[in-house]
Amino acid sequence: MSASDETTTPEPAGAPEMMASRCKDLSIALARFPRVRLGHLPTPLESMDRLSEHLGGPRLWVKRDDCTGLSSGGNKTRKLEYLMADAQAKGANCIVTQGATQSNHARQTAAAAAKLDMRCHILLEDRTGSNDPNYTLNGNVLLDRLHDATVSKRASGTDMNAEMEALAATLRDDGQTPYIIPGGGSNPTGALGYVNCARELVEQATEIGLHIDAFVHATGSSGTQAGLVTGLAAIQSDMHLLGIGVRAPQGKQEDMVFDLAQRTADHLGTGLQIDRAQVRANCDYVGPGYGLPTEGMIKAVKLLARTEGLLFDPVYSGKGLDGLIDLIRKGYFDGMDNIVFLHTGGSAALFGYPDTFDLHGYAD
Ligand SMILES: *Cc1c(COP(=O)(O)O)cnc(C)c1O
Repeated sequence: MSASDETTTPEPAGAPEMMASRCKDLSIALARFPRVRLGHLPTPLESMDRLSEHLGGPRLWVKRDDCTGLSSGGNKTRKLEYLMADAQAKGANCIVTQGATQSNHARQTAAAAAKLDMRCHILLEDRTGSNDPNYTLNGNVLLDRLHDATVSKRASGTDMNAEMEALAATLRDDGQTPYIIPGGGSNPTGALGYVNCARELVEQATEIGLHIDAFVHATGSSGTQAGLVTGLAAIQSDMHLLGIGVRAPQGKQEDMVFDLAQRTADHLGTGLQIDRAQVRANCDYVGPGYGLPTEGMIKAVKLLARTEGLLFDPVYSGKGLDGLIDLIRKGYFDGMDNIVFLHTGGSAALFGYPDTFDLHGYAD
């Protein structure tokens, strides 16, 4: 081919220049939304060489969203950058939110509210029935209180949205201006944080000449995956995104992610249509239920602590890793060279589950 031919040949869809320009367009679309900087971004993208070697499989990487920097980090920081900015824009002076007892979302919201000089009111739903004082008082609950949030408990199965509305009404009667953040910060505003993360990861990979075949993470209230689905669609990435469920069965989880991804795309306002086929969840690693330990999770958390020096959590990232490791062994990723696991954080919850890991005392 001559040089003049080369200039007229269209670039392949995934060419670095095309990716870079779509990432830039996405940054411009995102810049229309108010955002308060709370996180240490971009988070590092690191290789997990010892784990790759141990599994004898594809090259494994970790996107360190456990290092987002707000009260020991985690994935809620990115969502809170948009949610808290929206709260400020609406003149709120206090935040109402909810989660499970060991909610990482509650802890990071309490920290963000403290930093922005707002009161934070947290409703914690007892989803596991555990009476272990470590579970009910240590870990994230300790940190919620350290950040001076007001913490109230609710029984399992309570309509938590109705409870938040009722609390907000009481606060309004008291002359306050509350802003309600849904569980996990999962709505189209919060999900923008993960639209931005998709862009960030693709830019990082492009910079080091890495082609990411698959991106895997734990999925719960669905905002993380919905944002990633939307962001990857906006930049026309061919990355295979897979959420590992921690609560709902597959059909329900995928429907939740798809619904929120389309609403996030509409909110972004670029006319993007989400393809249902790009929403994939595997919910085979939940075990007996949300927040309840599984053998696979325990093995995965220990393996990563002992091969990579990384801390994962019992409720989300540990189960996500269990799924990643098991699916590698089962050949799900065969033919793929580079797989990134999104570390969504959560290690504070380890202190709510001290007996789960069957660790013994001193050597002497
Ligand atoms: C909340 C959370 C998730 C799940 O993210 P969603 O956006 O709720 O799906 C995963 N990992 C950790 C550690 C979390 O705290």
